[in-house]
Amino acid sequence: MSAPEAAAPYAARQNGEYLVVDKGASLPGVCIKCGRTDGLHGRSHTFQSFDPALYLAFLVSGALALILLLWVRPKRGTLEFPICDACDRRWRRASGVWTVALLWLFVWSFVAYTLLGLGAVAAFLVLEIIAVIPAALVRWTVSEWYTVVAIEINDEQLSLAGVHETARQAIVAGATPPKPLVEPSGG
Ligand SMILES: [Zn+2]
Repeated sequence: MSAPEAAAPYAARQNGEYLVVDKGASLPGVCIKCGRTDGLHGRSHTFQSFDPALYLAFLVSGALALILLLWVRPKRGTLEFPICDACDRRWRRASGVWTVALLWLFVWSFVAYTLLGLGAVAAFLVLEIIAVIPAALVRWTVSEWYTVVAIEINDEQLSLAGVHETARQAIVAGATPPKPLVEPSGG
């Protein structure tokens, strides 16, 4: 009840390669990307996830996805976690690569739709592929290798890809037991 050194309780579990953890959790002292336990510093990161329909829309049409982006707001969740200096540097570089990939996607989608407006359907299709493939590749390779990516976010929890196996085990071990189905009311 009153262990002064204990961090705030959180729930967590493994779901295959993914880690499912409560929003706002402060995770135990293991680097989230490489699993080491020394030379760490704390980091707060707000994850975002979009409806899977949005990714599907990008495969069909960058412009359709951009229109959906205006309607469908991303879901957000913040975590506090330890990370080592080397992993933090790689994370920042990978974030830069992702930003470039997104810019590439938007610019080439814009060019593609301009050409479609001029009636150049074949050029449009080629440019759409040129627009979408690099961003998709970066998302499923660089982003997952060097950062942590939110697969899904609901009202209470985040489902994360890219968390190191050792960190996943430490996070699940440091979690509070699952909540009972029926909790007494009041507090
Ligand atoms: Zn590390």
